[in-house]
Amino acid sequence: MKQSKEKREKNIYAPNRVNTNGHTEKTTAGGGAGNSLCPVAKRCGGCQWIGMDYQQQLKEKEKQVRKLLAPYCRLEGILGMERPLYYRNKVHAVFGEDKKHQPVSGIYAERTHRIVPVDSCRIENQEADAVIVSIRELLPSFKIRPYNEDTGYGLLRHVLVRTGQTSGQIMVVLVLASSILPSKNNFVKALLKRHPEITTIVVNVNNRSTSMVLGDREQVIYGRGYIEDTLCGRTFRISPRSFYQVNPVQTEVLYTKAMEYAALTGQETVVDAYCGTGTIGIIASDRARQVIGVELNADAVRDARNNARINQVRNIQFYQNDAGRFLLEMEAQGAQVDVVLLDPPRSGSSGEFLSAVAHMAPERVVYVSCNPQTLARDVKYMAENGYRAERAVAVDMFPFTGHCEVVCLLTRIKSR
Ligand code: SAH
Repeated sequence: MKQSKEKREKNIYAPNRVNTNGHTEKTTAGGGAGNSLCPVAKRCGGCQWIGMDYQQQLKEKEKQVRKLLAPYCRLEGILGMERPLYYRNKVHAVFGEDKKHQPVSGIYAERTHRIVPVDSCRIENQEADAVIVSIRELLPSFKIRPYNEDTGYGLLRHVLVRTGQTSGQIMVVLVLASSILPSKNNFVKALLKRHPEITTIVVNVNNRSTSMVLGDREQVIYGRGYIEDTLCGRTFRISPRSFYQVNPVQTEVLYTKAMEYAALTGQETVVDAYCGTGTIGIIASDRARQVIGVELNADAVRDARNNARINQVRNIQFYQNDAGRFLLEMEAQGAQVDVVLLDPPRSGSSGEFLSAVAHMAPERVVYVSCNPQTLARDVKYMAENGYRAERAVAVDMFPFTGHCEVVCLLTRIKSR
């Protein structure tokens, strides 16, 4: 169910990169249209490469990226996972009812709004999967009915679980069709009894008939409303609607490469564009004179500012803006930038952004991309506008899917 799952991912954090999603196993739906590793592989479609040996997957991704970048850049190789299982720290389940009006949870079957029941998945965090099963099992005794898209009756639409890999913290987001959760306190108590590891529970209200998963209104019903996690020795706060990389193990590999390519000495003014919760900029901050982060999503910017505070980083500022517009403003003001780090969504960067970078002429541009196709397009532009693509490395953030992350280093060839 590649399409619908990706669509939902996109909708959760729109406008955002699309993260590939999980394939499933041991589903309550049982076999049928499956694969020996996963009974619902076909109906889910999240793991397009489920049948392929992992080393083969890496070779294939490397080949694809190498081919796309060949006209511009040398690819150093691909960095894969040692244990490519249960890596997703964020799990989403849609809730509904079966023909006997029993609650079901899982994924939408490809191109439909029919739910394929799923209890666990090879690439999703196992605790998160278990929490979703518990919620489903608790519903009848609390007389909470899943929402029915056709009739508009019922309450629970989706559950989103985010886990902190190093912190062990778990956030549960209950997406409801209206703001009242009956027997709220007892429901929270019962869920915590089963999963004491849950650190926060948030009710998100989505009463629109839309394919967006999360609505705009939120109420924290337990804990602090966010979780924290550690990456490259720094602590990050993540709220329900902020972007956070879904594969924490490989994120460290990715960021370490980005830092290596940035080759900071402590003297530079650095822009971290499409910065999300500020992760890359904060990690770069102790090797730079000053860091400027820009991000469109207001929740992510709030998290980023908090993250700077938590990590006692004082040489970083975050701005909520479109990255292209912001850079054009910087250019117009004659700002001097030494290094630009960018990590745009799958659609890649914008013409304004790239043109502003070319005009501001930083010495180095480190491009982190979750879509090698748009990366190749943008690298071509930069190669025609004063930059040389020195090297790139692929990082496998999404094992068992066809997606691949790439970091690419561009250096300025013209003098300022
Ligand atoms: N660098 C971060 C986030 C990368 S995801 C990390 O590694 O966690 C891409 C981010 O770009 C998302 O947070 C998304 O909200 C943001 N974004 C999307 N379109 C944007 C735009 N036009 N201008 C600025 N940020 C944008």
